[in-house]
Amino acid sequence: MVEPVESDFADARIVERVRQLLDDPAHVGNPLFEPLAELLQLATRQGERMERLIRIADGFQGAAMERHESLVASYDRNLRRLEKVVRISDLYHEGMRELSESLQAAATTDPLTGVGNRRFLMERLSEEQDRARRMGRPLTLALLDVDRFKTVNDRYGHEVGDQLLCQVADTIRGHLREYDICGRWGGEEFLLLFPEAGTEVMKACERVLDAVRAIELPGRPVGHCITASIGLTQVDYSSRGYSEGVNRADALLYRAKELGRDRIVHDFASQSPAD
Ligand code: GH3
Ligand code: MG
Ligand code: MG
Repeated sequence: MVEPVESDFADARIVERVRQLLDDPAHVGNPLFEPLAELLQLATRQGERMERLIRIADGFQGAAMERHESLVASYDRNLRRLEKVVRISDLYHEGMRELSESLQAAATTDPLTGVGNRRFLMERLSEEQDRARRMGRPLTLALLDVDRFKTVNDRYGHEVGDQLLCQVADTIRGHLREYDICGRWGGEEFLLLFPEAGTEVMKACERVLDAVRAIELPGRPVGHCITASIGLTQVDYSSRGYSEGVNRADALLYRAKELGRDRIVHDFASQSPAD
């Protein structure tokens, strides 16, 4: 809406003054009377025209303002919607990431003992083997098998057997360095990987066997001794895939069983340790 200014009031005053002069009978017959009356008519028509134009302009301005305000409101609304969609999408991606992490953990963890499963071990073994080859560093592998585990199951039941497997897994974990790797290869067999270590691993394995001997069967008579046997070998750099080292350790483990169990059999002397 256009506000009247001082000059508008001045115009109105002149028009009013001219009208009064023309209304005054004293001026009838004056030669200026006719042209002044025409001029007044002209000014009045121009004034009306001007008012119409102002009203139209006001209308346009109002419509433009309304349109602008509605566009701003719809922009704000869409912006809020977009922010909400982005928040939902972030939550969704975070959920997917957590789900994929827990699926990955579930796929590589042994549900009974909580250590890595065979899949985990196969992946880690080939990674560590590649790394050992690249760096020219040793990698030693041990296969540990609980002795006469079947007897434990037969005598005390499967549940006690399961608890014993958990204790063995905890015992092994408790005796490894932070970067050593341990997992359940299957049944009552555990695979241990010692990156960057050679023959000195013997000592760690002996400590593990001592600790296994000290395990007490849950709820069973004290003094019932649990033992385990270990096949120990240094992984050959040139071999690709995980099976060669595992097969050698398995053969050495078999030899340990033959020799009476509760011992470590290694092939260090027949190899030339890299460290
Ligand atoms: P060895 O000294 O020659 O290794 O004798 P062993 O009795 O330990 O070996 P064997 O292969 O004869 O028996 C292994 C047993 O381990 C048989 C199987 O039922 C048991 N076993 C395998 N997995 C599990 C398990 O998850 N829980 C329990 N409780 N027992 C298991
Ligand atoms: Mg066994
Ligand atoms: Mg076995």
